[in-house]
Amino acid sequence: MFESLSSRLGNTLRALSGSGRLTEDDVKNASRELRMALLEADVALPVVRDFVERVRARAVGAEVTQSLTPGQAFLRIVQQELVTTLGGETQGLNLRAQPPLVILMAGLQGSGKTTTSGKLALRLKDVDKKKVMLVSCDVYRPAAIEQLRIVAEKIGVECFPSAVGQNPVDIARAALDHARRAYAEVLIVDTAGRTSVDEAMMQEIAALHAAIEPAETLFVVDSMTGQDAANTAKAFADRLPLSGVVLTKVDGDARGGAALSVRTVTGAPIKFLGVGEKSSALEVFHPDRIASRILGQGDVLSLIEETVQKVDRDKAEKLAQKLKKNKRFDLEDFRDQMLQMQNMGGVGAMLEKLPGGAQMQAQLAKANPEKEVGRSIAIINSMTRRERRFPDHIKASHRRRIAAGSGTQVQDVNRLLRQFDQTRDMMKKVASGGMGKLMRGLAG
Ligand code: GDP
Repeated sequence: MFESLSSRLGNTLRALSGSGRLTEDDVKNASRELRMALLEADVALPVVRDFVERVRARAVGAEVTQSLTPGQAFLRIVQQELVTTLGGETQGLNLRAQPPLVILMAGLQGSGKTTTSGKLALRLKDVDKKKVMLVSCDVYRPAAIEQLRIVAEKIGVECFPSAVGQNPVDIARAALDHARRAYAEVLIVDTAGRTSVDEAMMQEIAALHAAIEPAETLFVVDSMTGQDAANTAKAFADRLPLSGVVLTKVDGDARGGAALSVRTVTGAPIKFLGVGEKSSALEVFHPDRIASRILGQGDVLSLIEETVQKVDRDKAEKLAQKLKKNKRFDLEDFRDQMLQMQNMGGVGAMLEKLPGGAQMQAQLAKANPEKEVGRSIAIINSMTRRERRFPDHIKASHRRRIAAGSGTQVQDVNRLLRQFDQTRDMMKKVASGGMGKLMRGLAG
């Protein structure tokens, strides 16, 4: 899920997080990209505006400009604002309410109310160990009543009988009475939906709400409807005091816009995600984890944190500058790189967390295999300063001395010099683009 939003945002932010300094233009461009990414994901326009403005305001402030790592500071702002927009803290059901806890399910027809009623019942029964009862108040569609009965049977939960033609409020009251007498701890009330918001439906569900005073009024909405999801949510929130939202069919939603709009539009927290047709396909909604998923940056964030702690910024910055100016890359730089990588838990551990790292990993593995790093450093250490700076001038006799000094063979010294040559070639190729950016990114 969220694939397209994720890749779009990811590209923008990755480009930024590699830059050492952020100009006003950088922030402007990034804000524009953010805006485009959110609009393409079908996030509601007011939510997009508000989001981008909050990010922009913070990004031009001291928080970013005075940061040693402005690109990363920007990324963090986006991450934090995403979490805020998604609702901040994780919020579950109000299980402390006086039993029976009544949950009223609201939403359009086809949004997934009946399926979600079953999913919630299963979760409350299995995870929270509650005695749960279901009832359908959809007196217009016999198939809907039957559907809930079948779901209830499958998950082993009692379903209070109802029939077409009865009054929904009467059904709900009778079910609540029965639930009390049977000491049920939760009563989930499924309701009728229409294909679009209409006054009769709103009146009916408002009457149900008034009659049974539910502790939870959950609005169920199909995430694939994008902007419409936000509009429908608003219509329901205007008429009913929603306590939460369940976003369904998230498994089929690559854009993810509804997740970002719904909280802002309704003021109610998203409590669950429906991620499939099965009764077990329900996830608790964690704003922070969803933000990470959207950014596709979970690993990059931890890499940034590790880097900030471990990398010698001065050295990385110097190397980046040197490469940028097309200056020679020598054996001292090569050794510095190896030492830094060792510091970071090895080449593999570091590259793994970088976007596109797998490709680089393959390339560097040839020139710089992890197991040889220690030996390579020893070889370089036993060279003279002049040899390190002008590796091309190292003669055969020098190589024998270097091998003896580092406790290795001449072949090892030759191999190291070949690896160095390959690495230098690669550095030359990517100095203007990838690697320069990478090193500046590491320098922060
Ligand atoms: P209702 O009219 O609101 O009660 O909607 P239903 O519960 O009958 O769901 C409508 C359709 O959506 C059914 O085919 C469900 O199987 C499907 N559905 C519901 N939730 C999900 C979900 O999270 N993922 C997927 N893929 N399908 C879902």
